[in-house]
Amino acid sequence: MNLVIFGPPGAGKGTQSKFIAEKFNLFQLSTGEFLRKEISKNTPIGKKISSIINEGNLVSDQIVSDLIEKIISNKEYKNRIIFDGYPRNLNQAKNLDNLLKKYKQKIDIVLKLSVSLQTIKKRISERRSQEKRPDDNEEIAAKRYETYEKSTEPIIEYYKKLNLLKVVDGERPIHQINTEISDIISLI
Ligand code: AMP
Repeated sequence: MNLVIFGPPGAGKGTQSKFIAEKFNLFQLSTGEFLRKEISKNTPIGKKISSIINEGNLVSDQIVSDLIEKIISNKEYKNRIIFDGYPRNLNQAKNLDNLLKKYKQKIDIVLKLSVSLQTIKKRISERRSQEKRPDDNEEIAAKRYETYEKSTEPIIEYYKKLNLLKVVDGERPIHQINTEISDIISLI
């Protein structure tokens, strides 16, 4: 089973993905975490993308596509990937379909964590003190939300049409969301 989890920044994608990965023995492909690793290792890609990420914009589709293809093509992860943070726009959604087709796989479900802007602001300010991400300050978090609304939200319609979308109320306590997601996945 391959699944996509998406939602605005601070919606709890990472937390829920980690939980699902452990419970169902899946691989969490967090594009944000992969990209942050490139920056901390100061690789050529890292150097190219650090200012883009720190300003709350999306890095180029090609960079992220290369990154996810490495995982999709790896037999070890075949049919057990959680796409956490990919796709982020319509072009990436179509690219993901094509890549999965190329490696004889598909998306089984798309989970959208729905959370209000007020909750997002609260969560990001809490996370700021724990994780110290440079893109979690108030101004950049607002920019990332804007990027989400403009580029990422339109993919909801795309997945609705494909009958893959499940909306999960992300306002509730973490364990309740865990339970709902587990129930959804168990039915697949
Ligand atoms: P995240 O950890 O998912 O919040 O991602 C952090 C940042 O990494 C985003 O604000 C983007 O700058 C970048 N990023 C992560 N995933 C993607 C993607 N699929 N496409 C473009 N940029 C991405």
